[in-house]
Amino acid sequence: MNILEVKNLNVAAGDKNILYDISFSVTLGESVAIMGPNGSGKSTLANVLMGHPDYQILSGQIIFRGQDITFAKPEERAAAGLFLAFQEPREIAGLELFPFLFDAYKSLRLARGQEAGDIFSFKVKLDDELHDLQVKNDWSSRHLNQDFSGGEKKKAELLQLALAAPTLAIMDEIDSGLDVDALTIAGQAISRFKTPQTSILAVTHYQRVLQYIKPDRVIVMSGGRIVKNGGAELAAQLEQEGFSSLE
Ligand code: ADP
Ligand code: MG
Repeated sequence: MNILEVKNLNVAAGDKNILYDISFSVTLGESVAIMGPNGSGKSTLANVLMGHPDYQILSGQIIFRGQDITFAKPEERAAAGLFLAFQEPREIAGLELFPFLFDAYKSLRLARGQEAGDIFSFKVKLDDELHDLQVKNDWSSRHLNQDFSGGEKKKAELLQLALAAPTLAIMDEIDSGLDVDALTIAGQAISRFKTPQTSILAVTHYQRVLQYIKPDRVIVMSGGRIVKNGGAELAAQLEQEGFSSLE
């Protein structure tokens, strides 16, 4: 069953065309890697799927769980089960992590018609996730991403991902800024999201995170287009030969 269908998507930012005729689909439980050189449009695609207001969809369609979400608001997409972990998470001074996470969690659960639970059960759940990501419990009184290291920001994205329990988790360069130890911890967290009920769309230009994501398929972008489709072996081939072999 297709969870996501992207059909002939053409996208611009201002007067600049960025994505050309992008078509692909993701089935339920599938992990798909999107690879490609810098500037090939990977982040734009990830952002457009989540409804980022900087981008205009000129033509094409995004269907998620059978629903046309091409022009849906980001919060509607989140409620439907989409989540995007940003390549460059913003620092938001004054936004304390615990109330932010609890509010986001409650809103999502309610929007999906699920019990939100009380603050105590949320705290238990949060502490569990913090433990898995091996970050300190005092983290939750810090402000969102403020003075976080690159690796901590990525862990904060994974924490939000875990709490959001999406059907399709889009991760944009989740491995960037992670040292080897942090990558192992993040990789283990990502492995836990791999269930028959969750699909993963992982944007990366390195293969190293793919040992955890274990993609079923690899899509390669270049110049705002999809230039290649293949199995997991394509990632290894790109690592060896570099993206220039595509041109
Ligand atoms: P990647 O993630 O593959 O490195 P991006 O999607 O970030 O690539 O960028 C693709 C191209 O689109 C680049 O040339 C980039 O400068 C341009 N671009 C991305 N976002 C915007 C924007 N908001 N406004 C103008 N140009 C943009
Ligand atoms: Mg990018």
